[in-house]
Amino acid sequence: MKVCVIGTGYVGLVAGTCFAESGNDVICVDVNAEKIGLLQKGKVPIYEPGLEELIARNAEEGRLRFSTDLHDAVRASLICFIAVGTPTAADGSADLQYVEAAAAQIGDAMDGYRVIVDKSTVPVGMAERVRQTIAGRSKHPFDVVSNPEFLKEGAAVQDFMNPDRVVIGSQSQRAIDIMRDLYSPFVRTDRPILVMSAASAEMTKYAANSMLATRISLVNEFANLCERVGGDIADVRRGIGFDERIGQHFLFPGVGYGGSCFPKDIKAIIRTADENGLPFGLLRAVEDVNEAQKRVLPEKVIQHFGKDLTGLRFAVWGLSFKPRTDDMREAPSIVVIDGLLAAGAEVHAYDPEAMEEAKRVFGDRVIFERSNYDALEGADALLIVTEWNEFRRPDFQRMAELMRNKVIFDGRNVYELTQMQSLGFTYYSIGRPEVRPQS
Ligand code: NAD
Repeated sequence: MKVCVIGTGYVGLVAGTCFAESGNDVICVDVNAEKIGLLQKGKVPIYEPGLEELIARNAEEGRLRFSTDLHDAVRASLICFIAVGTPTAADGSADLQYVEAAAAQIGDAMDGYRVIVDKSTVPVGMAERVRQTIAGRSKHPFDVVSNPEFLKEGAAVQDFMNPDRVVIGSQSQRAIDIMRDLYSPFVRTDRPILVMSAASAEMTKYAANSMLATRISLVNEFANLCERVGGDIADVRRGIGFDERIGQHFLFPGVGYGGSCFPKDIKAIIRTADENGLPFGLLRAVEDVNEAQKRVLPEKVIQHFGKDLTGLRFAVWGLSFKPRTDDMREAPSIVVIDGLLAAGAEVHAYDPEAMEEAKRVFGDRVIFERSNYDALEGADALLIVTEWNEFRRPDFQRMAELMRNKVIFDGRNVYELTQMQSLGFTYYSIGRPEVRPQS
């Protein structure tokens, strides 16, 4: 099938590449000429495991192309995906100007029947708005489909190739058949293609992210309570996670959720509810808990060292909002590091993939180191903010030798308490008892 994907970001690039991998002819379009220029030269502007190899193979075989020319891409395609950003607008709602612009450009370019697919996360009603925009600019027949994306950054290719389910929001049998055909190679393992109205599909995406964010905030609140009244959140998590009604996923306490999706989607759905006379108290609380949780680690540092951190040096391991991505959007590391800097600290940071992105955020306020061990040299404490695998089994002996003080603030509960105790570290984590060296 002939497909174009408008917006070549984390979602559009992965979706386009995976559609090419299953044999379709795909053109990925973006307004960002620099991004497209890099991709045309075989360079991948984002980090996502497995993506580079897939892009190289499909580009080489001529199934995957990159262009800034939306008009030609629409002319060459039966299916046009809109995968542009929907960031938070000033009033908290989803900013839909990029989706609107893409829809208008598609309308102008169409020369026959097209399926236009909303892949971006958009509020209920947007498929209809896209339909109206295109109908106002083109006489050709078309269908608009809502097809929200559920991939996780850090495992995006794997998720896209093996989705838990595919959601298709449309009333048009013609468009539904085309979408089923497109997705059939991805659902070989009996995963369902769920067909519903566009409004239900749009709502499904927000409901999914709201559920996941709620689990995170709930477990973070219990972690904080464990710290006050006793109990170890790791045991509590296991204790509830084996209950099949609850399940194991998204029950890990930490420094709060971040990224380009949860924060903005929770804000947007609260705003939608507000506009419709329904104050969504639960999600407001989820958001408040999350904001407070991002400050937990710097607060623990201040409790340990005092309010003034001038002259103290901190190593920070992990900057991206989660492991296996370079995405820094709404990363908790930003709040954590800003908290340290505001108290006068010096910060030496390391991340396996996100340093370039992080430099855009922090500039020269942070010293970026070449390895996690380099960051530790002379450090008064280490803060673990993102749980990259390579931080899980470090050389503790070497760490102890490099650090001025053997103090760790672990925002992701990466290490065992007994291990920290026997190694003689002072160790603070989330929702678990503090470890202090025995005197
Ligand atoms: P992104 O910011 O990485 O990429 C969006 C791209 O669209 C940018 O490269 C931008 O230049 C391009 N663009 C904007 N207007 C354009 C136009 N008129 N024509 C062509 N290109 C245009 O965004 P993303 O993270 O890929 O997210 C895209 C959408 O998918 C959002 O609605 C997001 O909520 C949703 N989503 C994201 C994820 C995720 O993990 N990132 C997961 C599921 C859904």
